[in-house]
Amino acid sequence: MDLGALYEEVILDHNRSPRNWGEVPGGTSVEGRNPLCGDRISLSVRLDGDTIADVRFTGEGCAISKASASMMTQAIKGKTTAEAEALFTGFHDLVTGQAAGSPPDKALGSLRAFAGVARFPTRVKCATMAWHAMREALERSRV
Ligand code: ZN
Repeated sequence: MDLGALYEEVILDHNRSPRNWGEVPGGTSVEGRNPLCGDRISLSVRLDGDTIADVRFTGEGCAISKASASMMTQAIKGKTTAEAEALFTGFHDLVTGQAAGSPPDKALGSLRAFAGVARFPTRVKCATMAWHAMREALERSRV
């Protein structure tokens, strides 16, 4: 299996030096796991009204899971929960190949580097783990 297409430079870079690493003081924390690969994440979020004021994570796992978490935190920080939800949908469609045939959503920005994941179904959970954790954290934050 040629994984070359999976590891674009931007993904390797975020794996080497993850952004928004740590915990948000007083934030809502959620754990995420991907037993298939051994990936784990602890994600914390703080909302200001309906805006994601801060989001941070720690964890361990493969390059895809770490880079995805790192790039997600950059993408959703400062966004509204509705915008984050729209990004989740676009990213999910991208990595599951449901967007195949149409050009990747421009709103995804550098997250489009994960398009290659669609060709490796076993890695989809690696790429989406942080996003599922994010949705859960937002849901809990709103209560
Ligand atoms: Zn993984």
